[in-house]
Amino acid sequence: MKGIVFTGEGAEVLTGLEVRDPGPGEVIVRIVAAGVCHSDVTAAAGAFGWPAPAVLGHEGAGVVDQIGIGVTNVEVGDHVIISTLAACGMCKACAAGKPTRCRQTLGNMAQPFTLNGDPCWNFAAASVFTERTIVKAIQAVKIPKDVPLTSACLVGCGVMTGAGSVLYRSNVQVGDTAVVYGCGGVGLNAIQALRVRRASRIIAIDTEPQKEALARAFGATDYIDGRSDDVVEQVRTLVPYSDTELSGPFNAGGVDWVYDVVGHPTVTSNALEMLDWGGTVVIIGTPGGDAKFELPYQRFTQNERGVIGSRAGSYSPHRDIPQIIDLYRRGEFMLDELVSATYPMEKFADVVHDMHSGSIARGVLTFD
Ligand SMILES: [Zn+2]
Ligand SMILES: [Zn+2]
Repeated sequence: MKGIVFTGEGAEVLTGLEVRDPGPGEVIVRIVAAGVCHSDVTAAAGAFGWPAPAVLGHEGAGVVDQIGIGVTNVEVGDHVIISTLAACGMCKACAAGKPTRCRQTLGNMAQPFTLNGDPCWNFAAASVFTERTIVKAIQAVKIPKDVPLTSACLVGCGVMTGAGSVLYRSNVQVGDTAVVYGCGGVGLNAIQALRVRRASRIIAIDTEPQKEALARAFGATDYIDGRSDDVVEQVRTLVPYSDTELSGPFNAGGVDWVYDVVGHPTVTSNALEMLDWGGTVVIIGTPGGDAKFELPYQRFTQNERGVIGSRAGSYSPHRDIPQIIDLYRRGEFMLDELVSATYPMEKFADVVHDMHSGSIARGVLTFD
């Protein structure tokens, strides 16, 4: 088989890959489509310290090709979305419906592939940038066959990370106000989830001017150019402190929620300053490594602001993926519009280029 392999120096399309047969509780999926997420690019740059060679890709959908002993949730021929959460299904976190906190969902380094006969690593328990991959049955979520796999593939990471941060990690109430800082594939899904939740004000911020039209199409009520020096003041102008309440110190006014999809110290610091009293910054983006930010104590203790992290949108695949697909089929959630372009596997470098130029929401690789 062919696949996009992290060689230790970068990502290359290589032939000579094979995947082992499924063991008990495992499934082989023939990949039809896969989204290219920033984490793949970060891994390809060596920033995660992932071992090489490894088959990249973690946002995919396809058709069940083979099942191991004891697999009951899918059959050969089923269409599935692959989740990277190879959860154990048994621990305290899994039992509480929070598999993103299951210790077995981090790392998961294994060598289910061979490259020209030598062992080859997986990536993010998924490795969807190849023709056939192997996952745990719990990672394969069956979907109706009328959902295009080129759209469905994005659900496993970008869609759930953005939408889940709104729907499952935070507790947005009807009428709440929010900022989404960063309008790529993840941010656009935070925006549309805020629309589904009936947020009254959804302010999008990005540094790429062409993102404004996309952000508004997904539900943003306002757009701010992230390159300007006064983004915090602009948010406070849009959502001012109420005249009917006593004015207060510590920057009263601002929004209830800020979704930091960027993960940069300046952005996180700005995000905190955009909050009203009682507001929360939800950190989704990560610069990787051991990057740090500094925040003043008084912005927390005097006005009950908070900062929380979101991993993969805190979603539970078998509960939440069918819910998103149902919203999509009823016209309330946009998936097709996230797919800016499809590319054959060989054009991986072009997708990365188009991602960095900010010209696409999501690039999707196809494997026919
Ligand atoms: Zn991802
Ligand atoms: Zn678990």
